[in-house]
Amino acid sequence: MKIEHLGIAVKNLEVSIPLFEQLLSTPCYKTESVASENVSTAFFMAGESKIELLEATSENSAIAKFIGKKGEGIHHIAFEVENIEAEMRRLSALGFEVLNTVPKDGADNKLVCFLHPKTTNGVLIELCQEKPKA
Ligand code: ZN
Repeated sequence: MKIEHLGIAVKNLEVSIPLFEQLLSTPCYKTESVASENVSTAFFMAGESKIELLEATSENSAIAKFIGKKGEGIHHIAFEVENIEAEMRRLSALGFEVLNTVPKDGADNKLVCFLHPKTTNGVLIELCQEKPKA
């Protein structure tokens, strides 16, 4: 599995997008809202991986809760898999707590699911698979 992206929780994309553009010396190539997660996202290429900035769009968002507890910072690591359903079954059988029963639509044309940090040494893990082109 390669690291597809790192998710970073930020308070304000308007502030953080130019900051990461300077840091990485590359433009933000996509911004996208994910209504089901109550987040706005912004993506940057960083070598073969990406950086995903996440800003909460509602107080109920997991990102708002995360920032409330821990402040801004690294929120999750996303690994790219070829067959997300097979990986979910494999990891579930090994005792990892898979937070979704079926993959859900994520940002950047991906199917995603998450593993609970309590079974992964405190790190929220995202599995993602590129959606087949329609
Ligand atoms: Zn992500």
